[in-house]
This record gives sequence, C-alpha cells and structure tokens, in this order.
Amino acid sequence: MGAISLLVRPFLDFALPPRCPGCGIIIDEPHRFCLDCWSALHFLGEPCCARCALPFDYDSGPDVECGHCLADPPAYDRLRAAVAYGEISRKVALKLKYGGRPGIAETMARFMARHLDSKGEAVLSPVPLHRWRIWRRGYNQSALIAAALARRAGHGILLDLIERVKSTPPLRGMGPGERREVVRGAFRVTPRYKPALKGRRVILVDDVYTSGATANACAKALKRAGASHVDILCWARVVRGSND
Ligand SMILES: [Zn+2]
Ligand SMILES: [Zn+2]
Repeated sequence: MGAISLLVRPFLDFALPPRCPGCGIIIDEPHRFCLDCWSALHFLGEPCCARCALPFDYDSGPDVECGHCLADPPAYDRLRAAVAYGEISRKVALKLKYGGRPGIAETMARFMARHLDSKGEAVLSPVPLHRWRIWRRGYNQSALIAAALARRAGHGILLDLIERVKSTPPLRGMGPGERREVVRGAFRVTPRYKPALKGRRVILVDDVYTSGATANACAKALKRAGASHVDILCWARVVRGSND
C-alpha cells in the first residue's frame, strides 16, 4: 500500500466502511467478501466447456465443448462467468439490481475481469433492458458492470450497441424453448453502429446467465450485423445440478 493510500484510507473508511457484498457485515477491504460468503461462492474456471463454461469433472484438454454446445451450438463464441449462480451470487446480483448499490458493479467486475482474454481489442456492451425498466430503476445493472469492466480492461464500450425492438415479458418460469421463442427477433444492432461493427469482437456483459436465450438472441443480432466474434461475460451462470 502506498503512502497516499495510507493517508487517504482512514478517511474513506470513516466515510463509508466497506461491507461484504454478500451478507453486508463490515469488512477490512472494499470489494472483498467475508470468509463465510467467500467459501460459499463457487468460482468457475477450468476445466470447463470451451464454449459455454459448463464445468467439467475432468480436464479433457483445451477446445473441448460440452454435449449441449455440440448438439445445438449457441450463437456466441465463448461465455465465461465469475461464479455459479447460488445463494450468495444471487444476493449480490439482486443488490445491484434493486438495492441501489451501484458500487457492487465494481466488485463484480473485479471477479469477472480475470476471464477477459487478451486477444486484442474488443468492444464491451451490456445486454439491453426494457426502457421502462431502466426508467423505473434508474439504470441498467449490466451497463454498470460493463462500464466498470471497461475502466479496468481498457476496452471500448458502447452502452447502446444493441437495442430492443420488441418488448418481452419476464422470462422467469418459462422453459428454454419458450424463452427462445419469446426473445426471437427482439434485438437488433443500433443502425448507426453497423458500419463500425464489421469484423470486430464484441464482449456482451450480463449479470446472470440462465438459459442463454437473451444472450443468444443478442449474439445472433451482432453476428448478423457483421461482428466477427461475440463473447459473453457474466457475473453468475446457472449450473444445473449445482446446489451452492
Ligand atoms: Zn459475507
Ligand atoms: Zn457448452
């Protein structure tokens, strides 16, 4: 810790003690979890499906894809998530979404950033929300995470690269097929960005990846508009069968 941060820290701490993003208890350092929440989080990484990051029990080597991706390839090229969707990761996502705690986006971005590869320049873009949801809540939680990631990684960011052209009901409670049907044709690339998108790599940022219907619909729209690669980076990914 440098001299300046030593001088500044006590004052900041006095102003706003850092809290665990999971349970809210006061902790020593900002953007960290308390020990209990930390041990309850299931961090995702290798070995996993090269495409959708589904955890594998055994390491079968690089570029191996899971059965779902082989049978029905997603529209995106590579998905990565910081953690599996579970009790704590859900609480963190909900705090960002409804708790008026935009600082949590910075915490999420720190854990997500290690999944950014260094394959050259990319443009970050959030999965768009309904306009009325933004209006009601004041912000798009994925846009806050994307902005925090852009600050860390030095990639460009376009908050309105993708737009919704059709409003869709909440997908909660629907099966995968129904979700896919509902979001079909719901997104498009904002026309003024089309010329600049040709041959570029896009990293779509989302908070929670559930069935992939929304992310896939966005990835399809980006590919159709000329993006060369579409990666998805999210905070939490639902991993079926994991009960953490
Ligand atoms: Zn905690
Ligand atoms: Zn897969």
